[in-house]
Amino acid sequence: MSESRGWTRREALGILGMGVAAASLPEFASAAPAPTFPKGAVIRTILKDYAPDELAGGATLFHEHMSWHDDFMTRWTEHAIETRRENALPGAPPPGGAAQGAGRQGGAAPPPPPTTPSGKYFMNDLDYMVEELKIAKSEGISCIVDGGHADMGRDINFLRQMSQQSGLPIVAGGGFYSQPFYPKEVATMTEEQIYQALLKQVETDPIGAFGEIGSWDYITKDERKVFRAVGRASVTTNLPIFTHTGIPGKSALEQLDLFEDVGVDPKRVVIGHLGNLVDPNVEIHRAVCRRGAFIGFDRQGGQGDVQQVPLVMKLIEAGYADNLMFASDLSAINQTKKGGGPGYARTLTVFVPKLKAAGASDEVLRQIMQDNPRRFLAFVPKKPRKA
Ligand SMILES: [Zn+2]
Repeated sequence: MSESRGWTRREALGILGMGVAAASLPEFASAAPAPTFPKGAVIRTILKDYAPDELAGGATLFHEHMSWHDDFMTRWTEHAIETRRENALPGAPPPGGAAQGAGRQGGAAPPPPPTTPSGKYFMNDLDYMVEELKIAKSEGISCIVDGGHADMGRDINFLRQMSQQSGLPIVAGGGFYSQPFYPKEVATMTEEQIYQALLKQVETDPIGAFGEIGSWDYITKDERKVFRAVGRASVTTNLPIFTHTGIPGKSALEQLDLFEDVGVDPKRVVIGHLGNLVDPNVEIHRAVCRRGAFIGFDRQGGQGDVQQVPLVMKLIEAGYADNLMFASDLSAINQTKKGGGPGYARTLTVFVPKLKAAGASDEVLRQIMQDNPRRFLAFVPKKPRKA
């Protein structure tokens, strides 16, 4: 099947209620009531704190990647293959076969990462990335969250330069990723020590969310410890949390349990990668929504979308549009524009049109792309921002 290139820029801006000429305006008229935010709430980007209304002019992508170590995906894929092998039942189809096409969901090991024209890994090539983000901005993206942190090799100064040069606000994530990627000291640290380490991350860098915080497969003892510490750090700082669940959507409810056990309001949480859980009855999806959390359909904008469209439509029809969060978890150069792919805006330019074709209204799609991520990201800081 050939990849749909999705909408033109004009069509993508149309779903956001923006004329092409009005794309740079901070606000636009809309029939739906604007979301309200607590007094003093901000969206914390690397360069500055925004009032949530200032980012109402376009879509916000709550889970993407612009910076991690150049061997990160190689390690990720090796662990994924190993995990699938361990979980495989005799006679079962290859675990990757259920959800290929949308980002890193395929079962086969990828070829060595191709480089940019200047010979660099794309996430190390500032000029390349700035150009990609400028394109995303022109296609209707007003803010983008990077889901990396130190243990993934995220370089916050690189993100800062990217934001300065592209003009696109970037929210930096914080935390620890998942068992195979933890720094080795996590195994011996207490929950309290991890909690303190998380507060230090927030003090050191302008973190705007904890994420992505993962359970790699079935949740481990160390991961439970990290989840509780992240939950406590979220309660202390008011920062929101977005998660990574193992394939397909494993331990989703336990992740939410762990956060709620330490006092986190589920409204501050996105349980991620639930698009990977292709269940026509959307049982776990609905269970998470009923508890008030967001669910991430966050590897969208590719051929795998065909499986997620009916799930999303079912959840919209069930009244859970307020709980849906979309993104693409971009991870490979062939997903970028100059790498021949649909680019960072692909959630908006490729996935959203498929939902519209399936009957979702412009208004509900605008709310999901524009209002839900701002409601999620907006928080009232307990301490003034340092830099
Ligand atoms: Zn991710």
